[in-house]
Amino acid sequence: MDPRDLANLEYTPAEMAAMGRAALDRVVAHVASLSDQPICGDVEVDDLCRAMREPPPEAGEDLEALLDRLYQEWIPRSFTTSAPGYMAYIPGGGLFPAGLADLIADTSNRFTGIWRAAPALVQLEANVLAWFRTWMQFPDTTAGLLTAGGSMATFNAILCARERHLGADLRDGTAYVSSEVHHCVFKAARLAGIMPDRVRRIPVDAGFRMRVDTLQQAIARDRAAGLRPFLVVGSAGTINTGAVDPLDELADLAARESVWFHVDGAYGAFFHACPELRPILCGLPRADSLALDPHKGLFLPYGTGALLVRDGAALRAVHAIDASYLPRPASEDLYDPARHGPDLSRGFPGLRVWLCVKLFGAARLRAAIAEKRQLAVDAARRLGALPGIRVLAPPALSLFAFHLRLPGASVADESTATRTLIDRVRARGRVMITGCETGGRFVARVCVLSFRTRQAQVDTLVDHVTQETAAILGEAGRGGRTAGVAG
Ligand SMILES: *Cc1c(COP(=O)(O)O)cnc(C)c1O
Repeated sequence: MDPRDLANLEYTPAEMAAMGRAALDRVVAHVASLSDQPICGDVEVDDLCRAMREPPPEAGEDLEALLDRLYQEWIPRSFTTSAPGYMAYIPGGGLFPAGLADLIADTSNRFTGIWRAAPALVQLEANVLAWFRTWMQFPDTTAGLLTAGGSMATFNAILCARERHLGADLRDGTAYVSSEVHHCVFKAARLAGIMPDRVRRIPVDAGFRMRVDTLQQAIARDRAAGLRPFLVVGSAGTINTGAVDPLDELADLAARESVWFHVDGAYGAFFHACPELRPILCGLPRADSLALDPHKGLFLPYGTGALLVRDGAALRAVHAIDASYLPRPASEDLYDPARHGPDLSRGFPGLRVWLCVKLFGAARLRAAIAEKRQLAVDAARRLGALPGIRVLAPPALSLFAFHLRLPGASVADESTATRTLIDRVRARGRVMITGCETGGRFVARVCVLSFRTRQAQVDTLVDHVTQETAAILGEAGRGGRTAGVAG
């Protein structure tokens, strides 16, 4: 390279095409081989990671060499979250067209923080939010925001509730969540200035749903103590067991008590896009705000969460500030992202959602969402029929929890055995499930939400759990006898 031209960072069209082909070849080979990749790579590589630390490279390197390391050494050392057998945590999947949308968004690099800078592109994002509003049956006063994920959607929801009900005086405000709520609500509350000692954990019933009677009492107690209850958070699908809180009753209570009703639909909200499943989420459209995660229930890649706020003015009250160096804001009927969220400069998250919905169409996406529920129902029924397994409850949506039951064993022993089962199933390399502590014991959980998970993977899950459970029961039986003889 001509040393005087070091400052030229542009590629020629031929170079761009070659780089694009090189990257796309890897992408396609990777996606096409997902079902053959180990479901969990070797992630015990702390020393490798320390060895990867390096000073900023003074000279550039070759793309192929970098892609080699990414695809051969680093990507494989991870949970294979995009593989069809991934039923751990809350799976996403990552629809392929979203990657194309990101490439287009990043290379066109238009400014979508304010409406005036790229009106037609921002309108695509507004369309996406309006589609969500339609699927969630929110009124046309609703405003929305695309965020990095459900956590940031929750943060913005709490800001709305706080601004509306507390004003400048935050310390007296109290919020109410169930003991099964996702931990991001506590983080979001703290970010919004609501400290943990002002967030009440309401116990759950036998179905892991928030107890409305206890909630009512807690609110009354706080009011009597001079505090100001301002927020109730219901879950449309909890992370632990997939339970859906009694959203309709919570909406009634919130209306009675004049508090903000937020629904955490990061896992479950997109099931509401399927009309036949709406009764399960009855009351969801009555929320003042709803967090929903396209990177879970709409199968998008990580990095896309969303918030809907029923009274859009509440979201604008938090974020709409004018600045003389920016173009004038859009008129009320047009969408100005920076007036609805904390970011000014940002990527273009709307395009990945828009392209996926336009390419597939809502009918196919709904079919996929409904299929995931059917698969989970099928898996729970088959696992529940196995000797030695107790399913806590059939899935409300597409997530259920279960544990091993060993004759005469303590809860602690059953918890250990359940952990062993999860580890052994994962070690077989085809499906991955995880667990959590709830209801005083450790349980395994299955969440079917990757668009790639189909009947074949559920069959494999059932096979592998059946075989490993039989093995663990056999070992426990022999161990029991041995112990008996020794005793
Ligand atoms: C994933 C999840 C969250 C957090 O959302 P992120 O997108 O990971 O920030 C909150 N609540 C529930 C129920 C979730 O499943």
